[in-house]
Amino acid sequence: MTAQAVGEIKRALGDAGWAEGADAARFEVDFFGRYRAPSLMVARPADTAEVAEVVRICRRHGVPIVAQGGNTGLCGGAISAGPQPSVVMSLGRMNRILSILPERYAVVAEAGCIVQTIHDAAAEVDRSFALDWGGRGTATIGGAVSTNAGGINVLRFGPTRDQVLGLEVVLPDGQVWDGLRALRKDTSGYDLKHLFIGAEGTLGIVTKAVMKLHPRPLHDQSLWGAVTEIDRLSELFVLARDVAGSGLTAFELIQGPLLEMALERYPQRVRPVETRADWYVLLRFSGREPVEEQLVAFYERAQQAGLLSDAGLAQSAAQEANLWHLRDEIPPSSMRRGGTMLKWDAAVPIDRIMPCLRAIQARVRAIHAGAQLFAFGHVGDGNLHLSLFPPEESEPEAFAPYLPLLERGVDEVVWQFEGTICAEHGVGTLNYRRIVDQKSPVELMMMAQLRNLFDPGTMLNPGKVVDPKKAAQR
Ligand SMILES: Cc1cc2nc3c(=O)[nH]c(=O)nc-3n(C[C@H](O)[C@H](O)[C@H](O)COP(=O)(O)OP(=O)(O)OC[C@H]3O[C@@H](n4cnc5c(N)ncnc54)[C@H](O)[C@@H]3O)c2cc1C
Repeated sequence: MTAQAVGEIKRALGDAGWAEGADAARFEVDFFGRYRAPSLMVARPADTAEVAEVVRICRRHGVPIVAQGGNTGLCGGAISAGPQPSVVMSLGRMNRILSILPERYAVVAEAGCIVQTIHDAAAEVDRSFALDWGGRGTATIGGAVSTNAGGINVLRFGPTRDQVLGLEVVLPDGQVWDGLRALRKDTSGYDLKHLFIGAEGTLGIVTKAVMKLHPRPLHDQSLWGAVTEIDRLSELFVLARDVAGSGLTAFELIQGPLLEMALERYPQRVRPVETRADWYVLLRFSGREPVEEQLVAFYERAQQAGLLSDAGLAQSAAQEANLWHLRDEIPPSSMRRGGTMLKWDAAVPIDRIMPCLRAIQARVRAIHAGAQLFAFGHVGDGNLHLSLFPPEESEPEAFAPYLPLLERGVDEVVWQFEGTICAEHGVGTLNYRRIVDQKSPVELMMMAQLRNLFDPGTMLNPGKVVDPKKAAQR
């Protein structure tokens, strides 16, 4: 049956539309090489009709499909994970901007369109695009929609969910839903697009999206500050908001050792501030008018209040780029440091970030005093990214027995603080089992019923988000 499906897909897509063997290898491993699984084949459709045809073929033969965009996801969501190998459906050839509509403040793009491509196109018509994070040069719109990605602008514009006006989706039975509307308001019943946002390709395959554009800020300026008392982080955030109002477009937290890792890995980057601190913040003020005076006022008030001891203010486009490159390079640097690692993408109510982090540190110390925990995150969204490494001198085998305890221990603290362990990267494979303990039986039951309704055979991305059989048994 599977050989028949492969043959039919090859015929439907033509020579440019599929890959196998060595050509498929890059689609079978995730960005950081943590998740790896063979696919049945890689289907590379050129348009919505071809996506629908592949879905129909797979359905006929009972073959699972996992959609893949730029493959920058951090939870292994785009790699085959079910009991049988999936067809990987790469949207990479569907990468065009279909129309850009400055007067509607909207852009229509195919799902495989790269996030950076939309930034560039928006700038050409004097508009800006809100979605932004370190993977912008590879991540796609379909992937962003399907993970409800966050990034550095959530504070000002919200996550991807808030940027979607309309979607076109191929459903698990091969029907195409044309929901490509550019309406800001529509109360004509259930807003179905939201079902597909953050669904990680389990309810349908996103083929096109209408995304919001915004007026382009004429002035962006950032400050890298050395934090004096990290337990007063909330005060610092409130001060920045007081000074800048909605002009505060980013507020990031970076632990000292992570900056050192990024500088070590990218020696061409310039140290942003001379003072070596345990913690830093990176803020950006944006506006139609120059923001430097506001930034300086913020720094003076923060210094007087004993919140910041030093700061570097970007004075040129190159300095601005240096600060944000350093921030972008923190996740790859920490991921590639080596050694067994656990990571969390947690979110808690904004004012509870530091109490939660302190409680996590205490829990980790209680389980293994030598474990090294590093944090960075999007403070304005209550989002903490944590990486945990074994002690420098430890053998991986000696540390391995502690990993399940550490994972569970930190998860429990996040939940005690009314948080989530899936803030912006999604569930994927990484959190598939863990997320069950974050949800009530009623919530799991609704998720399972929804999945069963759209995809009764669990053909789309099995092994991700929710297990409909297990959820029904709880
Ligand atoms: C350096 C770096 C920094 C990052 N920083 C951030 C950050 O700050 N915030 C953040 O939120 N994320 C961040 N990410 C994670 C990642 O970039 C996002 O999750 C992104 O949205 C994934 O897009 P993608 O096209 O690569 O999707 P993929 O990785 O290919 O897929 C992700 C998930 O979406 C599904 N999917 C993909 N395309 C479709 C489609 N067309 N239809 C249906 N399902 C689909 C896949 O099956 C998978 O489950 C970062 C990644 C890197 C490498």
